[in-house]
Amino acid sequence: MGIEEKLPSGVLLTSVEKLVNWTRKTSFWGATFGLACCAIEMMAAGAPRYDLGRWGMEVFRASPRQADLMIVAGRVSQKMAPVLRQIYDQMAEPRWVISMGVCASSGGMFNNYAIVQGVDHIVPVDMYLPGCPPRPEMLIDAILKLHEKIMYEPLGERRRLQLEAARERDGAP
Ligand code: SF4
Repeated sequence: MGIEEKLPSGVLLTSVEKLVNWTRKTSFWGATFGLACCAIEMMAAGAPRYDLGRWGMEVFRASPRQADLMIVAGRVSQKMAPVLRQIYDQMAEPRWVISMGVCASSGGMFNNYAIVQGVDHIVPVDMYLPGCPPRPEMLIDAILKLHEKIMYEPLGERRRLQLEAARERDGAP
């Protein structure tokens, strides 16, 4: 059903918060940040067969300043951890993080000193995606769930307070 049929009188009432969140969720630009085998599935999600462009994600950006979504696709080595954090810090607010695959979320099979045992030790994570590797459909599902979450996010000062509270609660970086 087209939006015209839903709105016969041509009037649409909403809040600024909902309108801003709608534009944010429909224009995600991901930071190019493939770390290991999971990145192959991430690239497949952006290719024509799965076509992330259907949800406004036309391009992955090589510059973190032009990106608002970091998909951590693969295991994070200790040497890469400060680089990952620097890229996150260079992304403009608001920004979101998806931890893609068991390695990024918990270290996975790499339970050793060389690998960070969960990227949430480095950056706050908005969505965890299980699997080894998660298929492109699973990544798309995680992105759509993140869309739903974003629709209910407050703006401005309320958003800042919410983030601070979440970080305190989770002991996140
Ligand atoms: Fe590779 Fe599996 Fe780890 Fe992804 S979760 S980086 S596919 S080993």
